[in-house]
Amino acid sequence: MGMTPQQARRYAFDYAATTERISQAVQRDRARATAAPRLDIWTARISYGGEGRLDVTRKGNSPFAPSWTLLNETKARVKREGVTEAGWTWYRKRYVVEMRRSWRHHRAAWDELLSRLGPEGAPGRVVLCCYCTDYLRCHRSVLAELLVAAGGDGVLYHGEIEA
Ligand SMILES: [Zn+2]
Repeated sequence: MGMTPQQARRYAFDYAATTERISQAVQRDRARATAAPRLDIWTARISYGGEGRLDVTRKGNSPFAPSWTLLNETKARVKREGVTEAGWTWYRKRYVVEMRRSWRHHRAAWDELLSRLGPEGAPGRVVLCCYCTDYLRCHRSVLAELLVAAGGDGVLYHGEIEA
């Protein structure tokens, strides 16, 4: 293969950079695959009564609940505009901002939740419960994602437990 010295240097450089990038990605995925599950997160309606139940509602005074202010503003917005995608996006953003604040002010509660373990070293199990019918339009599924992001490897969200 005829390459000028300049092409050869460039080729070698690209090759090294690509190899490095791929090997880093492989190592990352391998670490992820072998990391023991630490915490299994589910969501469910408030009526769920099984193991790991955690009421994350404002009524239940949870540090993981949206504020009364946000809930009342949302109620007013729904009354005005009905249930819309834009409304959900707005609510979701506001809730995430509130949870960032909660992370700072109620850090012990976050740490306690993220470090729950099951019996005999089995992974912990937590089921985030709220009143809303649709978990995909409820803060409980957003909270599950936030917990996975905060907890890192071994913290997994498995979806909704249908009653
Ligand atoms: Zn809800």
